[in-house]
Amino acid sequence: MSVQTFDAIAARIDDKVDDLVELTQALIRIPTVNPPGDAYTPCAELIGRRLAARGFEIAYLRGEGTPGDSDRYPRTNVVARREGRRPGKCVHFNSHIDVVEAGIGWSTDPFGGEVRDGKVFGRGACDMKGGLAASIIAAEAFLEINPDFDGAIEISGTADEETGGYGGVAFLAGKGLFSKPRVDHVIIPEPLNKDRICLGHRGVWWAEIETRGRIAHGSMPFLGDCAVRHMGAVLERFERELYPLLASKHTDMPVVPPGARQSTMNINAIHGGLPEGFDGLPSPLVPDSCRMVIDRRFLIEEALDEVKGEVVGILEDLEANRPDFAYSISDIMEVLPTMTERDAPVVQAVAGGIGAVLGKEPEYVISPGTYDQKHIARIGHLHDCIAYGPGILDLAHQVDEFVGIADMADSAKVMAHALAALLSAPN
Ligand SMILES: [Zn+2]
Repeated sequence: MSVQTFDAIAARIDDKVDDLVELTQALIRIPTVNPPGDAYTPCAELIGRRLAARGFEIAYLRGEGTPGDSDRYPRTNVVARREGRRPGKCVHFNSHIDVVEAGIGWSTDPFGGEVRDGKVFGRGACDMKGGLAASIIAAEAFLEINPDFDGAIEISGTADEETGGYGGVAFLAGKGLFSKPRVDHVIIPEPLNKDRICLGHRGVWWAEIETRGRIAHGSMPFLGDCAVRHMGAVLERFERELYPLLASKHTDMPVVPPGARQSTMNINAIHGGLPEGFDGLPSPLVPDSCRMVIDRRFLIEEALDEVKGEVVGILEDLEANRPDFAYSISDIMEVLPTMTERDAPVVQAVAGGIGAVLGKEPEYVISPGTYDQKHIARIGHLHDCIAYGPGILDLAHQVDEFVGIADMADSAKVMAHALAALLSAPN
């Protein structure tokens, strides 16, 4: 792309800043809170109507039968595609339209989209309606300057990322919408900061461990066997052996924040014994079951079998050595780590855009958590995928979430630059 062409696109984005802000506000004002997955249809339709007016073909796809889908809460996704004059590569911008619960303590209406101090405030401003709006403005500016382009541009707004993406990207990937030859390059405008390229994420293993005991009267616990005390023995071994082991495992993945450059495990929940009977009075029983949910995040250097083996090894050892210890363990979710190569075309194109717009080298990062890239890699088998978008990751899910207007405009320019580079690359 010539310098003049890019300057023209960048100038067009500057002309569209008011439009960018209004679009972000309009998206925030539709409270797509998930769970339960509210208002997906009007949000998808807002995107669909806008892009239909710009020559995109619009498809609405409901993730029918996926977790949480119902007539009251349909998992509505929108996929918009604009074909160029000649066949070529397809660049896809994917944003999730769901947001998490607003919570309490906001200084402004979380679904009001207030503009103050050069920022748009609201739930989802940064994660990730600001990024979605930036990608739409980037594509529109590109199309106005390059109506005669080769290839295709796709923009999707998808459901349920915050709850695993099953009714959103996973569903669409299962239908072939994130695979070659339909799509070649994917940019997910998650809020990683405008000068960072997120290459992937760590792995996840969620599991539930249950220890079992024997019920008896609380006044005669010696007649029963307390499942909570057995779980206490598990926790003690975790503290003594597992946590030091995890802290000793470091990764070469550039995970941010740096505290996540090692293996980690959260204990999400622990439940044992019967709930209160009534009026706060306890049930005087020896608990016969105790359940714990663990959330283990692992590194690209670790194999999932090894990760599971560390926990199961402790449980087996307790079973062999602790009297009456009995347990079971079941997987809840497994996600393998994913990391796109730095020399992949989409990485190079966005790095070029960051250089052109911000005059610097990008920082390459890895997310501590996971996002929809997992489904594109594993179900779609498409590996030319990154997250790149405006906003500060730390603000996601917090009160008074915002996105900077100048940051949105800059990242729209980076996206447009990358789009132009990817669509003009030789086939
Ligand atoms: Zn997000």
